[in-house]
Amino acid sequence: MLQLSQPNSRLFPSQGSVYPKEGPNRLRFTMKLNELTPEEERVIIYKGTEAPFSGEYESEFRPGIYCCRRCGAALYRSEDKFDAHCGWPSFDDEIPGAVRRLPDPDGMRTEIECARCGAHLGHVFVGEGFTRKNTRHCVNSISMRFVPKEKQLT
Ligand SMILES: [Zn+2]
Repeated sequence: MLQLSQPNSRLFPSQGSVYPKEGPNRLRFTMKLNELTPEEERVIIYKGTEAPFSGEYESEFRPGIYCCRRCGAALYRSEDKFDAHCGWPSFDDEIPGAVRRLPDPDGMRTEIECARCGAHLGHVFVGEGFTRKNTRHCVNSISMRFVPKEKQLT
């Protein structure tokens, strides 16, 4: 997998250029990536997990949109957030096309990442019965940036 911790100038040409849609690169388009703090890097790039009940959005329930902290892509809506009491923000649905699922190296879980930039988000679980959709995206707060509805551009 492409390691974003080793920036490759070939993959990040000057702003505005577009990479071919086909090919082995998962990062096909150039994009502006936010600089990350070491703790953000630990989770987003090195697929770490923030401590339960420590994240800033675990008990955030205002209306708004949760965006990728690294590339800004919209990932989740507050309407799909629910309180699973698991210690991390939980959603039972994603914004269509925004989240990619892939097998976790542990062989058990399903990892989720930002479909746009590959930032690690957390894991998705199905069949737990929390909501009618029977799906729980268990997402690290630090992988996201919450944009309250009143701050969104209309
Ligand atoms: Zn992203």
